Amino acid sequence: MSVQVETLRKEFDVPEGVEVAVNDVSFEIGGDEFFTLVGPSGCGKTTTLRCIGGLETPTSGSVKFDGQNVTDVPPEKREVGMMFQNIALYPHMTVEENIAYPLKIRHVGDDEKHQRAKEAAEVMEVGELLQKYPGELSGGQRQRVALARTIVMDPTVFLMDEPLSDLDAKLKVRIRKEVQRIHKRLRVPFVYVTHDQEEAMSMSDKIAVMNNGDIEQVGTPKDLYNSPTNEFVASFIGNPTINLVDGETNYDDNNANVTAAGMEFSFDESTFHHTSSGSAIRLGFRPEHVSLEREQQTNAIEGTISILEPLGNTDLATVDSDVGELRAVIPAEGEGGFVFDEGDTVWVTPNPDRLYLFDADTGELLT
Ligand code: ATP
Repeated sequence: MSVQVETLRKEFDVPEGVEVAVNDVSFEIGGDEFFTLVGPSGCGKTTTLRCIGGLETPTSGSVKFDGQNVTDVPPEKREVGMMFQNIALYPHMTVEENIAYPLKIRHVGDDEKHQRAKEAAEVMEVGELLQKYPGELSGGQRQRVALARTIVMDPTVFLMDEPLSDLDAKLKVRIRKEVQRIHKRLRVPFVYVTHDQEEAMSMSDKIAVMNNGDIEQVGTPKDLYNSPTNEFVASFIGNPTINLVDGETNYDDNNANVTAAGMEFSFDESTFHHTSSGSAIRLGFRPEHVSLEREQQTNAIEGTISILEPLGNTDLATVDSDVGELRAVIPAEGEGGFVFDEGDTVWVTPNPDRLYLFDADTGELLT
């Protein structure tokens, strides 16, 4: 089953007037895609998800399942499985009763109810816990029971809103794998909401980056990382965050010549979109795409290492410079003969093949 969201808009009446939570967004989710809505708090992810689930009525626009308009179909008739941040299991019910609850409210007969609850529990590997109560379970077990309760309905679409945000880091990684495993097994669309870009990058086939009610870009994790369409996406995707420095462009016959932080780069004008706002640009380069040098370089920014943090097989250096704080991911101490210390003077040298240029005013990518 595919999901089509077409010029979906949701406005809320608030004391100050009207709040546009979702601003005419459109996207399509393929039949077996893991699709994630990601963006900062308040950007409209949850509202979009609730419109897909039928918990919220759009102000305008439509939601279609396999091309069929379901905008006015109530949630219980949509065959969607939903799981939200605060998983509330009923404390006075056993695990089996909890898992079977969605079947009970649909008046499914006892035998079938028991059988389906058992199967869902087995998929989630909580089959031995059926007679226990939620209070007797670990956090991870409770989460798996909640997932079992979601899959017991055989939903044709799964909606999940920050289901992992309350878990500790280790459990998060485990349950993430569980969610991916269920997705692989069921091969139905999963629509997942998170504000955590790393979670989005690690789980999704496709990601929609939302900002202020709008969708900035939809793409695979690789697309978003390698080819962000604007500064917002470039900054939101990728950890540590991309470096951005102010600069300007001057055009000659064939080239757009960019100067920023004392560096100069030339871009072929045929592949360059002119800035809409004079010459102001921002030059972006990811921390993974710079080297730190001890000797002065031509296209580099001088600075002082203020923090050196081990990341595993790399280190993250934070460098104070005249154009602000810069980040560089460098080989771990000792590897390849690099040894840097906090307080060292270094030249942060961006790889000229991995530069991004943004219009300073609109944030749009220029080349
Ligand atoms: P978060 O990550 O914090 O959950 P979000 O991206 O999911 O945020 P939404 O919950 O969709 O964002 O909210 C989008 C905007 O709509 C916010 O400004 C929010 O305050 C507003 N909003 C959401 N629900 C309502 C409501 N029932 N009444 C009024 N305003 C609302």
